Parts: sequence; C-alpha cells; structure tokens
Amino acid sequence: MGDLFGLQGRVSIVTGGNGGIGKGIADGLAMRGSSVVIAARNEEKTAEAVADIRSRFNVDAFGVPLDLLDAGSIGSMMKMVLDRYGRIDVLVNNAGVSVRKAPEDYTSDDWDLVMNTNLKGAFMCCQAVYPAMKKQSKGKIINIGSVASLYGVGRTVAYGCSKMGLLSLTYSLALAWAKDNVLVNCILPGWIETPLSITARQAFKGLSEFVEERTPMGRWGRPEDFMGAAVYLASDASDFVTGEYLRVDGGFAQHGNTVSFK
Ligand code: NDP
Repeated sequence: MGDLFGLQGRVSIVTGGNGGIGKGIADGLAMRGSSVVIAARNEEKTAEAVADIRSRFNVDAFGVPLDLLDAGSIGSMMKMVLDRYGRIDVLVNNAGVSVRKAPEDYTSDDWDLVMNTNLKGAFMCCQAVYPAMKKQSKGKIINIGSVASLYGVGRTVAYGCSKMGLLSLTYSLALAWAKDNVLVNCILPGWIETPLSITARQAFKGLSEFVEERTPMGRWGRPEDFMGAAVYLASDASDFVTGEYLRVDGGFAQHGNTVSFK
C-alpha cells in the first residue's frame, strides 16, 4: 500500500506560511517530504521560515512574495511556482487577518480588508491552482477556517463572515471539482497561540484564562498541533475525502454556539 501519509515528490503552497499556524502546517508537509512554497508579504519572515524548513527537514523550500489583496501578485506566485516545479499538488489557504471592533463601528475598509484577504484571496488562489491540478488529475486544497466558521463572533463580524464563507467555498468547490479529482477540505482551528491571537489576548483581559477553562483539553493550541491534520488532508490517506471539515480545537467547539469573549 506504500506510504499513505508520504508527500515525497509533491509541491505544496502555504499562504501565510511564514509564521503561526501556517508555519506549523508547512513544517508538517515538509516533514513528510513535500517541497514547500512559503507565500506571504513579509519577505524577511519568509526567508527565515524557508531557511528553517530547509535545515530541519532537508527538503526544497522556496519563498514567494504574495499579497492576497493584489490579483496580479497571485498570478505571479503561480507562475514562479510552475516555472520552478512544473506542478502544484497542495494549496493551503492559511493567510488571514482580523479586525476586532463592535459591528456598529466597522468601516467599509475594515470589511473589505478582512473579506478580501480571507475569502476572496483564498478563492482566487483556488482558481489559480485549478488548471495545474486538473491537468495532473489530482490536487488537494486545504482551507483554514476557524471554529468561527460554525458560530457567530460578536467582536469580529467580518472575520466570522469570511470564515463561514470559507466553509461554503469548501463545499462548493468540492462539488464542482470532484470530477477532476481536485479535493477541497477545511481545517477549523480553535484558539491557537500565534501573533494573530496575541493581539486578542492583549485587547481582552482574561481571554487566556477563558480559553483554558473552556477548552476541554485545558490549553491553547500550538502551530505544531496542525501538522498531522494537514498531512492527512494533503496526502493519499484522504483520497476519498472532499467537502469535509476537521476541527483542531482541543474540543473547544463542543461547548456550544458561540466563540465570543465579552
Ligand atoms: P498569523 O497572524 O500568525 O499569520 C497570518 C499570516 O497571514 C501571516 O503569515 C501573514 O504574513 C499572512 N498574511 C496576512 N495578510 C496577508 C496578505 N494580504 N497576503 C498574503 N499573506 C498575508 O495568524 P495565525 O497563524 O493565527 O492564523 C493563520 C490562519 O488561522 C488564519 O486564517 C486565521 O484566521 C486562522 N485561525 C487562527 C486562530 C488562532 O487562534 N490563532 C483561530 C482560528 C483560525 P505576512 O504578514 O508576511 O503577509
């Protein structure tokens, strides 16, 4: 049966792979032998992530500048990847941002920043990888949603909409592209220790304790908690799985219908 979880010879793109959850995912894919493309805006952080992956996992890692708010940047990323490798096996739509404020205080620009980065940017990356994956008759797309894909979030309304939208995108593309063996799934993180959540912990006193108390496993998640879930959804182990979501949240979402912290 071979190595069901092996990724040797594969090429994976991880948007926002230069830190946080994306770096954890990139590490997991590299550990199983995939070449890894780290795509994000901050070129210094990207260079550090690439060097770290090369030295720890002895695979080819490659940094590509990407700004999801710029359609041209998505196109040039795909060209760089195809010029270098001639194929794309895995796309992880991980990059994301949030604006935390009451819904009544949201500006049009706040809304556009979050929706265009998290949802439109992810969709455009899916569109961009599809021709190569279709040609190969195989491809895996992994969208990074949130437990906010399932529940409302009072202080981050656009974020919640973008993450619910990512779930809908997952379901729709899974239906549309199953015929091409392009499989589309979603990982839903709970509360994870990353630069993104540090700002939330700074803004909301007591958030750390709230998360520890409410998470059945009694701790915040860590980027390395995503290695296994990403390897599963990227590898042949999930070859009959599409349109599915997988929570990686220490049981957080079992508690009910909100992720809000007041
Ligand atoms: P981080 O802030 O650590 O990482 C976000 C990444 O996105 C960065 O690497 C950043 O790189 C990249 N990014 C942001 N904007 C753009 C852009 N316009 N174009 C390209 N890249 C961009 O966040 P996390 O690791 O916490 O989050 C990763 C994903 O997980 C996000 O989608 C987030 O919503 C989701 N998530 C996180 C949770 C948590 O508790 N941390 C909980 C639930 C979901 P650069 O600045 O270099 O562009």
